[in-house]
Amino acid sequence: MHSLVTGGLRGIGRAIVERLLRDGHTVYVFDLARCDDEQAQNLIRQGVVYCSVDVADPLAVKEAFTVVEAAMDKAKHPSLDLLVNNAGITRDNLTIRLSVQDWDQVLAVNLKAAFLCSQQALRRMMRQKKSYIINISSVVGLHGNAGQAHYAASKAGLIAFSKSLAQEYGSRGVRVNAIAPGFITTAMTERLSEEIRKNVCERIALQTLGTPADVANAVAFLCSGEADYISGHVLEVSGGMF
Ligand code: NDP
Repeated sequence: MHSLVTGGLRGIGRAIVERLLRDGHTVYVFDLARCDDEQAQNLIRQGVVYCSVDVADPLAVKEAFTVVEAAMDKAKHPSLDLLVNNAGITRDNLTIRLSVQDWDQVLAVNLKAAFLCSQQALRRMMRQKKSYIINISSVVGLHGNAGQAHYAASKAGLIAFSKSLAQEYGSRGVRVNAIAPGFITTAMTERLSEEIRKNVCERIALQTLGTPADVANAVAFLCSGEADYISGHVLEVSGGMF
């Protein structure tokens, strides 16, 4: 399979890339760091096609897709099989203190970018029998969260976007699902104080934070034959948060 992961350099995206490589995929990564970045070089050494691109920038995304398509043409592979829209950012603040710039930036990276990449990917995906789009949402997209109104709105938007794409392209064999991780140990959650972590764990049935590999396992499941009749679904990977 040929698979593209956005934000694949670090955190959850990196775990997804490593899992897909282990499963034998040809992997493409779009991320912000330059190609000479050490982590990017490390991925390139593992055979990943790496593009330095801001996924919220329409022109940059279009250009990066020409690189992906050239690589697929060279490999005589017709289309991407899997797109994982994973890149995401937080800019936490209470709504009355939120700047318009932070609102726009969070919505652009977390939601608009998924539209830009899906639109490019779908053009070719529609021509083959089976392909997959997986959008990395969040439990806060289901329940909301104080201090994250814009982030939660972007993640809820991703869920509605996934369900809409599932309906638009199901007849073309494209399965579209969302994953809603709970609290996963990455740079994004490292900033939380010990007290917040403790409070969070008390809200989790399994009483512990998740790992990036837990989310990568869900991606591997959703793009496998085991999930052939699953589309338009939101898979929570949260250890049970109520
Ligand atoms: P990280 O911040 O660890 O990694 C995100 C990656 O995306 C980084 O490599 C980052 O680059 C890259 N990125 C950010 N903005 C852009 C952009 N405009 N264009 C291209 N790449 C970009 O985040 P996580 O791994 O924690 O999160 C991954 C996804 O999972 C996000 O969508 C997040 O919202 C979601 N999620 C995470 C949870 C968690 O607990 N960690 C819980 C629920 C959902 P750089 O580092 O240079 O900014």
